[in-house]
Amino acid sequence: MKFNYLCSNCGQRFEIEPRLMVCPGCSRDQATDRPLMGVLEVELHGTADGSFSAGSLLPVETKYFPPVPVGRTPLWEPENLRRELGFDYLYIKDDGANPTGSLKDRASFLVSAFARKHRIGDIVLASTGNAGSSMAGIGAAAGQKVVLFLPESAPPAKLVQALQYGATVYRVAGTYDDAYNLSLEYSRQRGGMNRNTAYNPMTTEGKKTVSLELYQQLRRAPDYVFVATGDGCVLSGVYKGFRDLRKFGIIGAIPTVYSVQAQNSDALYRAFAGGGFEKKSAGTIADSIRVDVPRNGFHALGQLRKYGGRVITVSDEMIVKAQAELSRSAGLFTEPAGAAAFAGFLKVRKSLRADATVVVLATGNGLKDPAAAVRGVRMPAKTIRSMNDIP
Ligand SMILES: *Cc1c(COP(=O)(O)O)cnc(C)c1O
Repeated sequence: MKFNYLCSNCGQRFEIEPRLMVCPGCSRDQATDRPLMGVLEVELHGTADGSFSAGSLLPVETKYFPPVPVGRTPLWEPENLRRELGFDYLYIKDDGANPTGSLKDRASFLVSAFARKHRIGDIVLASTGNAGSSMAGIGAAAGQKVVLFLPESAPPAKLVQALQYGATVYRVAGTYDDAYNLSLEYSRQRGGMNRNTAYNPMTTEGKKTVSLELYQQLRRAPDYVFVATGDGCVLSGVYKGFRDLRKFGIIGAIPTVYSVQAQNSDALYRAFAGGGFEKKSAGTIADSIRVDVPRNGFHALGQLRKYGGRVITVSDEMIVKAQAELSRSAGLFTEPAGAAAFAGFLKVRKSLRADATVVVLATGNGLKDPAAAVRGVRMPAKTIRSMNDIP
């Protein structure tokens, strides 16, 4: 297999090399409060059939892969939910089962391998929480130094996780968007590989493995995939995996992807409806999809339009309820962003064929944000001392 970069905007091809992150021409007038221009995709040349291994479709040789078991996450067949909702082919992809507890490990894994290949020992990034704790963990396994810019609102568990893995953490008095811009400035001035989502092409490319695995687990492409969206990098990764499979003739059609946003963090939804990317301050219980500026906005929008995707929104209340329903009915405890994808499915399910193969991506583990999960349960009112206190 041979690989090169392709500019998603102008179509220019480039050799893959670590200093190149976005198309130099298309990104010349990049403003800090706009989605990234000139996002680069990895283009594959070669042949593959249904017995492929995911590693063979990645642009870094397996010998550079960090020693940490990312991916191959379980695909749940939730009996109770299938019965309750009337969907016999409903599946939940449990990406909270990744080593650091979220789908972000797929991106960190490939970025780490890419840096190892080019003997780069420092990795810099901004994160709402999961990308940071993920890169910190994968970097620890690979012996790389990780510098992380985290907004002060990040859930404590994600901060502690990154510190446990030994990352240098700067808490930014501001939003994720402030942290994003600061981290770009830092890597420009101090060097290291920047792993910012969508900016480093290996992030989207790494996330495509979720779709490759879905094919391997189902032996076909699903009809619908539900994915929670903030920056739109997971969304593009999901598409990229299916697009690669189609390119090699392994699947016929690209699934219909539902991008699910939080009602008050809905930049992609507004743009999809024709509004353009106006900056608006975001707020949602699902911190992982809370972004003012969706960094991969242009690319994600292009994919959705080209492949007939949809964008829908769910309220925080729907997210809280969906999280508890998934926990109680399936035994799968996912963080609010993962629950948002499930809430999106609950919202539109009546418009889908009941015999459709539906995959909901549970992108992160529920223990990542206990404070949010408390909202979906009733805490025991008082303590007890003996059987006499039990009604
Ligand atoms: C990052 C993340 C998402 C959304 O990914 P984007 O690329 O920002 O759209 C969804 N769920 C979880 C748990 C995440 O960490």
